[in-house]
Amino acid sequence: MNESISNCDNHCIFCKIISGKLPASRVSEDDEYLAIRDVNPQAPVHILVIPKLHLPGVSEFEEPAQLGRLFQAASKVAASEKLSSFRLVINKGADAGQTVYHLHIHLLGGRQLSWPPG
Ligand code: 5GP
Ligand code: ZN
Repeated sequence: MNESISNCDNHCIFCKIISGKLPASRVSEDDEYLAIRDVNPQAPVHILVIPKLHLPGVSEFEEPAQLGRLFQAASKVAASEKLSSFRLVINKGADAGQTVYHLHIHLLGGRQLSWPPG
């Protein structure tokens, strides 16, 4: 496995959270994902659904089913938060607003969300 998709604990803030080296407000997890509350929430519910395997972004998955399972996890978290309306967002690349280069889905809800996004 090359370094870009290994768990590069030393350099990646989300890998450190997953391994417990950094604290986070944990919502739920299983073998493959961890859900945490975003430290800078943009909505009453703002949760990050993060694969435990370090993948730099949405284009770097190894098999499409990884993304399917991650979206399934995000929907389960939305249900556990009792959200009937919500938005799932993946920012890819700096111009789209990606700041942490470990794949994550933003789950946003609990308020009216405008469209188009900024
Ligand atoms: P991106 O900009 O890459 O799409 O999203 C990264 C998200 O991670 C941002 O919403 C940011 O607030 C959140 N974030 C960055 N560092 C931390 C942290 O240490 N803990 C938590 N819980 N969220 C973080
Ligand atoms: Zn990572």
